[in-house]
Amino acid sequence: MHLDDDRLYAGLLERDAVLAGAALVCVTSTGIFCRLTCPARKPKRENCRFEPSVEACVAAGFRACKRCHPEGWQAGAQIFSPLAGSGSASASNP
Ligand SMILES: [Zn+2]
Repeated sequence: MHLDDDRLYAGLLERDAVLAGAALVCVTSTGIFCRLTCPARKPKRENCRFEPSVEACVAAGFRACKRCHPEGWQAGAQIFSPLAGSGSASASNP
């Protein structure tokens, strides 16, 4: 799934649980990276860049947010995603 930055920023503003599994947001004004569902105040569009992994954020010099703890984040593994829940249930049912 390819998502451009505008789509990801929209997901950030809406705390979209599905898009939250696609990327992490690095905030250049604070040097912090967050999950898209972070409860903190949302940064401006021009201060956001999106990375596909925790390693990429750290390598770029960002630190993990104290509120949403993105260091445990994994792509596509958001437990709040309704799509992920329905997908796994149908595989085990007869
Ligand atoms: Zn955060």
